[in-house]
Amino acid sequence: MSHYLIINTGGTIGMADTPSGLSPQAGLMKSRLDGDSRLTNWKEHRLSWHEWQPLIDSSNIRPGHWYHLRDQIAAADCDGVLIIHGTDTLAYTAAALSFLLCGTGKTVVITGAMRPLTHPDSDGYGNLALSLEILRKRQPEVCVAFNGRSLPASRVSKVDTEADSAFMTPNWSDSLWAQPPGKVKSDLSRSWRPCALGVQTLFPGMPMDGLMSMVERNYRALVLNTYGSGNVMTDDALQRILEKASLQSIPVFVRSQCLFGDVHLGQYAASSLLSEVGAVACGSMPLEAVLTKLQILCAQFNQSKDVINGFNEPWAREWQSL
Ligand code: ASP
Repeated sequence: MSHYLIINTGGTIGMADTPSGLSPQAGLMKSRLDGDSRLTNWKEHRLSWHEWQPLIDSSNIRPGHWYHLRDQIAAADCDGVLIIHGTDTLAYTAAALSFLLCGTGKTVVITGAMRPLTHPDSDGYGNLALSLEILRKRQPEVCVAFNGRSLPASRVSKVDTEADSAFMTPNWSDSLWAQPPGKVKSDLSRSWRPCALGVQTLFPGMPMDGLMSMVERNYRALVLNTYGSGNVMTDDALQRILEKASLQSIPVFVRSQCLFGDVHLGQYAASSLLSEVGAVACGSMPLEAVLTKLQILCAQFNQSKDVINGFNEPWAREWQSL
């Protein structure tokens, strides 16, 4: 018999219909795990419960919640932790916890469902059974259990609003599990403090004033969703903005709008401006991992050089490539 802590934050899996739409129901998860014949394997174990009050739709998750979960999991004396979570922001919480708990050796599984357990055809039963299978393996890291697969927490994105296969891990192959998750060098012990991160998706005809105002307001870091392998338009205003950012030591992180493949600054002349201002490539990390890692780094460090160094460290499989 193992001892697991179950933290229920909310989400569709434990929701029921109400006049205003699906809404989380207190006690529903526990009563299903205690009494439903489809979940009998869970009965072989000692379960400790922590149910959030109130339970939330995961649209309401904030970075402070990630830190609260980190502290609770770090302090938990058990064989593993299951987090029940809504699917909308599950990828953010998963990535954040993979970073905040890296190096702690904790076994954490995050799951949810596309249809509530109260639905006759809920995918939640399969996801809960799979979660237990993954917990039993005692892998010392954070994984997402969904639709028959164990997924690395720093590599998932929600890509479907309806299908059971709602999560995808582009640029990931299961053969990468054989590699160690990463090496932690940065100290991540600080508590959460808010920081302004700017994200801009480039598109033809894009006005530049949004990006300029982020620099004028001294945002802590900018993330650019660029074309292809890291290309940007040739534009005087964009050049001025990026040079100003560089003068103000605001680091610029470069992603691709493509789902698959890496960023390669310098491959095309159209990325030379980014190389000249010292922009940092994000490899093939999903946006969720980039944003959570940067929020955690900006909360930890005041200096941009520490944020960049920490970003480039491999912590939780986010830099592993095919
Ligand atoms: N809106 C829900 C949530 O993220 C969706 C879900 O759980 O699937 O909480």
